[in-house]
Amino acid sequence: MKLKEECAIFGVYGAADAAQVAYLGLYSLQHRGQESSGIITSDGDRIHEHRAIGLVAKVYDREILENLPGRLAIGHNRYSTTGFSSIANIQPLLVDCKIGKIAVAHNGNLVNAIELRRGMEMDGSIFRSTTDSEVILHLIARSRQSTREEMIMEALRKVKGAFSLVFLTTDTVMAARDTRGFRPLCLGRLDDAYLFASESCAFDIIGAQYMRDVAPGELCVLGPGGPKFMRFAEPEEPLQRCIFEFIYFSRPDSKVFGENVDKVRRKLGRRLAEESPVDADIVIAVPDSSNTIALGFAEASKIPFELGLIRNHYVGRTFIQPRQSMRDWDVRIKFNPVRGVLKGKKIVVVDDSIVRGSTMRKLVSILRQAGADKIHLRIGSPPITHSCYYGIDTPTRGELIASNHSVEAIGEYLGVDSLHYLSREGLLTCVEEPHNYCVACFSGQYPVIPDGCLHKDVFEDRTGCGEGFGVREDVGR
Ligand code: SF4
Repeated sequence: MKLKEECAIFGVYGAADAAQVAYLGLYSLQHRGQESSGIITSDGDRIHEHRAIGLVAKVYDREILENLPGRLAIGHNRYSTTGFSSIANIQPLLVDCKIGKIAVAHNGNLVNAIELRRGMEMDGSIFRSTTDSEVILHLIARSRQSTREEMIMEALRKVKGAFSLVFLTTDTVMAARDTRGFRPLCLGRLDDAYLFASESCAFDIIGAQYMRDVAPGELCVLGPGGPKFMRFAEPEEPLQRCIFEFIYFSRPDSKVFGENVDKVRRKLGRRLAEESPVDADIVIAVPDSSNTIALGFAEASKIPFELGLIRNHYVGRTFIQPRQSMRDWDVRIKFNPVRGVLKGKKIVVVDDSIVRGSTMRKLVSILRQAGADKIHLRIGSPPITHSCYYGIDTPTRGELIASNHSVEAIGEYLGVDSLHYLSREGLLTCVEEPHNYCVACFSGQYPVIPDGCLHKDVFEDRTGCGEGFGVREDVGR
């Protein structure tokens, strides 16, 4: 897998140890973001906060969690990126305004944030971060509606794009999802407490029950008056759920968009095997993201699944400058071939996607050196030809190998004996409501065009958490 992760959000209302529940939830959502983490709690009177750069296990310890008292909490994991790594951008964001303190954690990307921000800056607003999520807080603070819920709903009607959000005030935890439902967000129950999470696997770790998804256009309010489920707007049909949640982002043990990720991912593998049968001795996955797709492929093709690559799970950032002789070290540090499995074999390598192709090219070379006789590469998604503007960190279009190379040319570049991508039609047969999914990164047909896309504007940031402002030049072309 080569796309960067997006973000994780979590919310707790009514648990005695809300910070610890949030910590465990964020721990199980670590795969969605590894750069930084934050938890904000409320004890009913005061707000408490902790945010830092690093993995969840590093950001918090017992003392920190004890200093986050209260029965209400929201949390956020931010994914790794190369720029915009300032402390000010670590979520949840917290502001103090006329309705008191309000915090927000965001998964997604607002496509009209730059226009909204510029307008508000011209009006005198001062922004503390470069995240687009802060725009939402400013809109809430400026609203003239009479109740807190109406102020939030008015703000949500003004922003465009992808957002799954959790809010915290001193006495409420709220959650909202954009009207097209790009990003997942689910509601759960733990005894008397309510929970929100990006994925249901976060409920399992704490023994909570998945109840349902937060609906597109819905604002869920958990407060002293009991739960309230309101609509800030009608869902926009067809929905635009991100199909990449099934291909890569979500954990296979999660339920996302009402379907089990494991089941969908196996279907991807089975369909891939039907579309591209091959004579081979073994099927191997590029672990871990492709394991389930490879199992589906092996099952349908009746070719045995083997562990031909071992992944090192403990790879952090590395700063070494390798000698020329240490070729492919950046891939070798992550994946090691099992020679006894591969030597002299015709192998099918299953991966979920190809972005630039550089990692796969090195991996193919490593597999050849380990003795693989033939390498047939099968990809569990169609060619990625366009960038994502809805919360996934894809490179610019020109960097996507499939945007300017044929499948044949890509296969040659990678050095494989054959290459096949899952077709778009095949992909969509694997989900229950195919018409309700975004496939813009495979088609270039963007359901929501970022404002200003026809101007050549600054676009520095391609982050998943709504970082930075501007649009890319290639949108809409
Ligand atoms: Fe998901 Fe691709 Fe749509 Fe982005 S463009 S939301 S990655 S399907």
